[in-house]
Amino acid sequence: MLEAELVVGGLTPFTTIDFPGHLAAVVFCQGCPWRCGYCHNPHLHPPTGAERSWHDVRGWLESRRGLLDGVVFSGGEPLLQRGLIRALAEVRAMGFATGLHTAGIYPEGLARVLPLLDWVGLDIKGPFEDYARITGGGRGEDAECSLILLLAAGTPHELRCTVDPELLDADAMVRMAVQLRGHRVSRLVLQPRRRDGREQALPAALFAAAKKILPDVMVRRA
Ligand code: SF4
Repeated sequence: MLEAELVVGGLTPFTTIDFPGHLAAVVFCQGCPWRCGYCHNPHLHPPTGAERSWHDVRGWLESRRGLLDGVVFSGGEPLLQRGLIRALAEVRAMGFATGLHTAGIYPEGLARVLPLLDWVGLDIKGPFEDYARITGGGRGEDAECSLILLLAAGTPHELRCTVDPELLDADAMVRMAVQLRGHRVSRLVLQPRRRDGREQALPAALFAAAKKILPDVMVRRA
């Protein structure tokens, strides 16, 4: 866990796609212990190096009241930071809806912040037994525990999987979809990986493998 004030690695002042149904700002949180090969934000991996202070971001958000209706915390892995819970409470007190992007790395942290969240985007990296390979050492047990907590809380959410065909083949896709179905999940968003800023094609066989198991699979392009 990091220091008490949120360490902010970047800010997107306006988005219509990162927090469904909301005109939102994205606060990127510094730090992630995992090393997914397709990570879009490797500059956020070191746990230190704030681009701007939470104090400044909070002041800027005050000026956005009435213009935005949501704030989504992304990363990096926001749950790495002890300051997240206070930041969420402050954002809610300002009248914004709150969202979180997480890879489910810290189930205990997720349990603490769920009462402060209006929506969660949970990344599913693959079948849980493959997490160490896909994430560079991450624990699938933690991610599965986070999924269970999220589903039990009933918080609106989206499960999404970045598809890198070098890391996820049809067999892995089927194993993942079967595990999700076992948790009564029906909807999964597949996101093609990006390389050198360009979206890679998502093989039709991988889409078909997921669709065979889960009734509601869609592909989201950036
Ligand atoms: S969990 Fe997310 S932020 Fe962390 S390395 Fe993987 S893709 Fe990047």
